[in-house]
Amino acid sequence: MPNMLGDDIEESTNTTSRLLIRHVLLPGGSERDERTFYDVLCLDGKVQSIRPTEGNQYVDEAEFSQSGGTLLQTDGLLLPGLCHAHIHLDKCFLLREYPDLQISTGDFKEALSVTDIAKSRFSQDELTVLRRGHELIRRSVECGVTSMRAHVEVDKTVNNTCVDVGLRLREQFKDQCDVQIAVFAQDPLFQPGSDQAGENYRLLAQAATLQGVQAIGSAPYVEPDIACAKRNINLVLDLASKYHLFADFHLDYNFDPSLEPLIWYLLEELTTRINNGSWSSKSRVCVGHATRLALFTPNDWNRYKRTVEEASLPITLVGLPQSDLYMMGRGTNPAPRTTLNVTRLTKEHNIQIAMSVNNVQNAFTPQGSVDPLSLCPLGAAVFQSATRTDCDILLKSVTTTARQAIGIISASETADLIPRVGDPADFVLLHDNTSTHLAALNPSYDRTTIKDGRIVSIRKTEYLDEDMYRNTQSR
Ligand SMILES: [Zn+2]
Repeated sequence: MPNMLGDDIEESTNTTSRLLIRHVLLPGGSERDERTFYDVLCLDGKVQSIRPTEGNQYVDEAEFSQSGGTLLQTDGLLLPGLCHAHIHLDKCFLLREYPDLQISTGDFKEALSVTDIAKSRFSQDELTVLRRGHELIRRSVECGVTSMRAHVEVDKTVNNTCVDVGLRLREQFKDQCDVQIAVFAQDPLFQPGSDQAGENYRLLAQAATLQGVQAIGSAPYVEPDIACAKRNINLVLDLASKYHLFADFHLDYNFDPSLEPLIWYLLEELTTRINNGSWSSKSRVCVGHATRLALFTPNDWNRYKRTVEEASLPITLVGLPQSDLYMMGRGTNPAPRTTLNVTRLTKEHNIQIAMSVNNVQNAFTPQGSVDPLSLCPLGAAVFQSATRTDCDILLKSVTTTARQAIGIISASETADLIPRVGDPADFVLLHDNTSTHLAALNPSYDRTTIKDGRIVSIRKTEYLDEDMYRNTQSR
């Protein structure tokens, strides 16, 4: 038996990090059988080799560990690290932080107003913003998140408080998670009756130049009218291109057939800018929510697909189901429960959609956890999609498609769930799942997170008998 794995290790004795994940299941598909166990060797943050586990005879585990390597023995399923394509770092856990600011009507207007009151306290209490953001990232890493786009608001109410906190947390967690900071205008850039962008725009434009900021976003639907909403889009695209940032819009967040879908305007603007050379080739665009598009006919979707493909538009739609389902369709009977149908759009139109958590414990999204994998069983129910194919699509929407959406990997790179030699060694290991199908339907609680070939978090259920429990209490 040749010492194949040993040779892989031998070739790289000068490496700084070495992790051998032993006896692990990989996603199935045409190339691999999910019932076969594999050994995945990671060197210097990259996948060095993937080989079927063939017993212990061809690697000396003691020697590997003694020479500084980390050995992870498991029976679980290895998936690409999870990715928050869209999460708000500064307004998480507000329902817990401010008990006086609770939900009464539950509608969007109320969510905006109570969040505004909370935001008015941020500048005086920067430490709580930091503590909440820290908890969001730490809990995300425990779930298996290795990359995220974190929105932080910039406006007259909070000034630079949130972006400053975001940049500090980005640095603090740099070994555990790629935290991409997106400066975000939740508030209008224009005042009613004025055609000049105001103070909120000036602050946003200034924040876009800060070292470490990688994306810029806005919510054009808060503008006083549709003309201002379109100008909001133009201003954000201008800044994104000027400073080589990713652009990220909260767009078409309604379920009203009488409202013009602004996605067409955005596609038109993007096409024009690409054609006349006024768009940075590094800038991708994300569109979050887009619930209005759930009213699209097959012809509308064909038009969308054709427009994006003909001009090679760097754009991805990001469904935010926990928020969309909670907020959309209020006051109608029967109430539609609406969010982008990830599985149907992939299968019928070959349009890849990411899904993301958006908010945790605030008036926009009071329910749900920080775990991106929790969106998969939700999607299986809402889209009535639980086949093996559907489940792979759902898993991609919170891993590889999400990474492509925020530019962590390029759109031309493989979006496969199966790791390949040379890939970044960013994984989540699901200890209690034996297939991608089951991982999407009922994700394992016990998880190990691997970032750049290093174990950065282990989340495990502890089983205690009565004596052990007493001992833990008396410590
Ligand atoms: Zn959002």
